[in-house]
Amino acid sequence: MPDAAPPAKPGTDFIRDLIRADRASGKHGGRVHTRFPPEPNGYLHIGHAKSIHLNFGLAREFDGLCNLRFDDTNPAAEDVEYVDAIQADVRWLGFDWQDRCYYASDYFERLYGYAEHLIEHGHAYVDDLTTEEIGKYRGTLTEPGRPSPHRDRTPAQSLELFRAMRAGKFPDGACVLRAKIDMASPNMNLRDPVLYRIKRASHHRTGDAWCIYPMYDYAHPVSDAIEGITHSICTLEFEDHRPFYDWVLDHLPDLPHPQQIEFARLNLSHTLMSKRKLLELVEQKIVSGWDDPRLPTIAGLRRRGYTPEAIRAFAETIGVAKRDSTISSALLEYCLREDLNRRARRVMAVLRPLKVVIENYPEGRVEWFDAENNPEDPAAGTRKLPFSRELWIERDDFREDPPKKYFRLSPGREIRLKFAYYITCTGVIKDPKSGEVTEVRCTYDPASRGGTTTDGRKVLGTSHWVSAAHSLDAEVRLYDRLFLDEDPAARLESGTYAEVVNPASLEALTGCKVEPALAEATPEEPLQFLRQGYFCRDRVHGTGDRLVFNRAVTLRDTWAKIEKSGGGAPGGGTPRP
Ligand code: ATP
Ligand code: MG
Repeated sequence: MPDAAPPAKPGTDFIRDLIRADRASGKHGGRVHTRFPPEPNGYLHIGHAKSIHLNFGLAREFDGLCNLRFDDTNPAAEDVEYVDAIQADVRWLGFDWQDRCYYASDYFERLYGYAEHLIEHGHAYVDDLTTEEIGKYRGTLTEPGRPSPHRDRTPAQSLELFRAMRAGKFPDGACVLRAKIDMASPNMNLRDPVLYRIKRASHHRTGDAWCIYPMYDYAHPVSDAIEGITHSICTLEFEDHRPFYDWVLDHLPDLPHPQQIEFARLNLSHTLMSKRKLLELVEQKIVSGWDDPRLPTIAGLRRRGYTPEAIRAFAETIGVAKRDSTISSALLEYCLREDLNRRARRVMAVLRPLKVVIENYPEGRVEWFDAENNPEDPAAGTRKLPFSRELWIERDDFREDPPKKYFRLSPGREIRLKFAYYITCTGVIKDPKSGEVTEVRCTYDPASRGGTTTDGRKVLGTSHWVSAAHSLDAEVRLYDRLFLDEDPAARLESGTYAEVVNPASLEALTGCKVEPALAEATPEEPLQFLRQGYFCRDRVHGTGDRLVFNRAVTLRDTWAKIEKSGGGAPGGGTPRP
């Protein structure tokens, strides 16, 4: 089972301890300067939010700075669309790089100059082996590597070749620049790693100015040092790369030496997080785009109805640790419910409508009831809710033949309409062909105005409703987990996306009826549809007069219940709170 338990208390993790010690000893001049270094090859996801929260959070806490830096050294996969989306997402999460947005590509000239420096000092050489040959020569974990036949080229020879590489004299892949370190090192990353490769691809910023591009492992420490980063925080996979990070900076002149620190990446159950896989989901049209509300991307979560506060609270709760673990996606949902419960405006929406006619209520009469906007927040005030003779209620709130313990409307049964009146069902009208109930006939008790009676009579059920004449039509999208497997990546090793995704991850309901106040709802405003869950207006399709709402999260964790009871995977139907 994934870890749901939050690790160490916020503010007391190993990174903060280390920074406090560095500040106490005056290392890096007592400064704290971090960076968040995304590669613009996809949209940010919830894992990146952990890193953003950590890097910008540390800067804030320790009176330091945090840069946004695009690690754009691989022109083939990168795009300005991603740059723009990443900036928007970081801002939306509530973080600010001020005037410090940088690009590794801004340093291409300096990176090139430093590479010449390494060559001149005998620390790098041009190698003509192919990628496959380099792989073969590199050896294995148990076998040392073999030196390339070109390893002993003189600095002058390598320099001339490197300049020719830059000048476009060789085809792609003809040769590379490699660091000259140790072909027998137990750390494979030190067996003469590649620093530069030839690649004719237009770069989103430098265009066709370059046909050679630096490798990430070389560009990263140099970029950090150029920007005066003090603590370069990355995920655990880079632990084995740290000796090379340090090697680069130890062999270049006049550059400060940031410290690389690794922490455990966020893994979330029932989710895929690698940008490569997310891109595949988008390209194969398994989802509607990077902002599909079922994706763990920031854009998707935002569109779904997640708030920056909920995501930050989640990042705070999970903390940072040095040990890899998988966090239950239920924890993310829990953080969202906690936030939305405090802030969401309560409204009434009928998702699967059934007509109710109140026979003893005068035709043409309209009453306006006061409805509180949020019982958790008295300052949220009240709104006027119209009531009339014809209403919509939830189809599920009526049964002609009620099973035991069914406490809602059925023939002869009295229930409360929230904020309004007690009503009693007197009969039904059915479709003569299908036998389906198309209308429920009721009477109301005028003495129960506001939803209470003076004689203390109790009812077991309370239903939400909307006045038919005043209601607005809406589309409501109910989302469920995109993957039923706790670890979809593992399942994908032997299956296709189509086999692994939850076929019921999206249920789009049309003809829903919502109260008139929702005409003004904005995508930013969190809503609670009473008894149904938390929703927000869809920012893409719910524009103008068109009302489209996304379910952000159910009111309670129905999945936890289902998993506990050992039940199989349910369909995507609306969980009944
Ligand atoms: P992906 O696997 O999604 O492609 P990445 O590490 O290649 O991720 P980058 O754009 O290089 O993506 O990441 C930018 C920063 O975000 C890096 O510092 C990286 O360590 C951090 N990061 C990426 N994924 C996670 C995660 N799951 N948890 C925490 N930090 C992450
Ligand atoms: Mg990456």
